[in-house]
Amino acid sequence: MMNNAFARQFIILLLVCLFSGIARAEPPAFPPVDVSRLDRNGLRTVMNELLRTYSPGGKQVLDRCAQCPCTLDCGGVTVTITPCPDPVSLVKSRTLDGIVTDLITVVHEMTHEYQYRIAMAMLAEQKTPPKNDRYHAYYTGAETILVKQTAVYRTSEMQGLFPAALRTERFPVYVFPARETGAQLDGIYGLLDEYDAYYIGTKTGLDFLDYYRTSRQDTPEDWFHFLDNMNRYYFAQAEFRLYLLNYLRYAKTQHPDVYAGIMGNTAFRHAFRDVDDGYAKLVQDYFAAKAQIFTRLRAAGYDVDEDDEFTRIGKDGAFTGRSNFLKSYKALTAELAKPVYQDLLTELKK
Ligand SMILES: [Zn+2]
Repeated sequence: MMNNAFARQFIILLLVCLFSGIARAEPPAFPPVDVSRLDRNGLRTVMNELLRTYSPGGKQVLDRCAQCPCTLDCGGVTVTITPCPDPVSLVKSRTLDGIVTDLITVVHEMTHEYQYRIAMAMLAEQKTPPKNDRYHAYYTGAETILVKQTAVYRTSEMQGLFPAALRTERFPVYVFPARETGAQLDGIYGLLDEYDAYYIGTKTGLDFLDYYRTSRQDTPEDWFHFLDNMNRYYFAQAEFRLYLLNYLRYAKTQHPDVYAGIMGNTAFRHAFRDVDDGYAKLVQDYFAAKAQIFTRLRAAGYDVDEDDEFTRIGKDGAFTGRSNFLKSYKALTAELAKPVYQDLLTELKK
């Protein structure tokens, strides 16, 4: 039998669940605002208000970067870091929908700032001088994991492991030929920087589903804004999973010392596991949201159809089609299903 105290607690818990359920189902609509003539401060207010309303996780990345001091005492060694760039400078659009799109890039870039700045702040807290070591503070959405870099090889060295069909959209930017970025020079640690930044940025993109539900007109054009935002980013999950696993595959045979250092780095493996699990789940959440949007549009009398290249929405035979990158995503996930990757993934996530 339920005692009274337990029954009271149960009812309170039930009410909390019900109300939080209602809160999730009924997010606030964003008030219409003309952003075309706003100055920098006006834009900053709109940017912060959009993030606060729909993507508090994304806002937290910006806030923590802004709060991080530029001069830090790391165990008696003074570390000076450059002032944090103003995220508003990454907002290029002058329409509200355009700003929502820009915010994915803003959060992506600020996640890179976070990885560097918060790593230094954590070293200061631990009273550890960075010396000549490189550190990364990977943000998983729930926690921040400080990782010290071990020996690496240059990422482009593994390019022979990729047949043409697997050289998808981001391959030339991050693997080969690539520029002199962290993803090249910091090897797998730089690749995880990118994987993490794409994850947190894409998460903000999906967070804005509520904005499109509540604040737009429910037209195919409105939904294409949301779908385009997500379609540009979701399949980076499969790309970077493959880059990181191939980095290890190559290291195992060509640089055993690099391989041993990475596999022995518990903090790195922890960060990889959380980013990888979180991003994989996010992609599935996006696919579920996309199916709901299609159902909603069909109920409103639109025809919706999708193949591996295009998503088409229309009425009376007149369709608008947009790229959905399913061809790349499917090629990458088919490759990743092979035992050589699955075994490595299991070992890495132990
Ligand atoms: Zn990046």
